This record gives sequence, structure tokens and C-alpha cells, in this order.
Amino acid sequence: MILPIVGYGHPTLRKTAAPIEKDYPNLKELIANMYETMYNADGVGLAAPQVDLPIRLFVVGFRPYDEKTDTYGAPTEEHTVINPEIVGFGPDKDWFNEGCLSVPDIHEDVLRPTTLRLRWMDEEWVQHDEEISGLFARVAQHEIDHLDGKVFTDRLSSLRRTMLKRRLNDIQAGRIQTKYRMKTPKK
Ligand code: ZN
Repeated sequence: MILPIVGYGHPTLRKTAAPIEKDYPNLKELIANMYETMYNADGVGLAAPQVDLPIRLFVVGFRPYDEKTDTYGAPTEEHTVINPEIVGFGPDKDWFNEGCLSVPDIHEDVLRPTTLRLRWMDEEWVQHDEEISGLFARVAQHEIDHLDGKVFTDRLSSLRRTMLKRRLNDIQAGRIQTKYRMKTPKK
């Protein structure tokens, strides 16, 4: 089932999300719905607060894109991340152009560490403790920000944020068009 995605300015995006237990109700179904919602919106990551649930869970998925047919192939990599804990960061950082399904049509370069050591539970409740890098490391940090009540625009310079203010206000007011369903912020 495709869930509505909450937009910038929604209070749930500003909450610190809570860890969950193994017996969280309908967890498997929720995870399946989050993958479906993410792929439907052409996203590569989706955190539970973005579907209005302030819990520490996110999904990541990468699919090859075929420009000629404008279609996606089967996922080549997927990660279900529950109760993540960043153990440490590697020494290097780089810039990457990020976007967010809750902040449509805004893409900005964000500086983040390129590698990190991450501990988490997967959907089978198996613990992982891995050094991660590449796109997974980038998306994981973006999604963990969501679990901590942050969005990627918070990480921009104050000048950039000032320049984006009108567009962020438009999203907050629901004056946006997306091909996926959004929940406008509660006033
Ligand atoms: Zn996001």
C-alpha cells in the first residue's frame, strides 16, 4: 500500500523518533509499504517519520534506471535499517547533491563523511555492525537525520537557506505538485 509522504514543515519531521521493539505491530507490512511508497516516488531512501511515524526505521533501495525507456529495473541493493546507531565516522568527507521526498524539487550539495560504522537491526531482527560507504553511507546519514528531527536543508549555509525560503514556504503551505501523494503540514 502506498502511504502519503509528509512534507517539509510537518511536525512529525521535527520529532526525535523512538526506537522500536521486535514486536512492533504489523512491522513486516509497514516495511513492505515503505518500500512500495519509496519506489512509487522514485526515491532511494525513506524514513518512517516521512510517513508520519516517529519511529527509528528507514529503508534504502537502489534500482538501475534505463533512460531510453524511462523505467527502473529490479532493485540491486536494499537495506531495512531499524534502531540505527552510528558508531563512528571515517576521516574523509565529500559533497553530494541531495534531494528529499518531503522537500520536493529542491536539490542541494551537502557535505558529509564518506564512510561510517553503523550498527542496526534488519527486518529479520538480525544485528549488523558494518563499515559502510558509497551511496548507502550517504543515504543512511540523510535518513538518520530524519530520525533525529532534521532535514537536509538544515545542513545548508544560512545564505542558501535564505535563498530557498520562499520555496520551502510553498511546500509548507502545500503549494506544490508531486506525482506522489503528500500530506500537507498540520497547521
Ligand atoms: Zn529525506
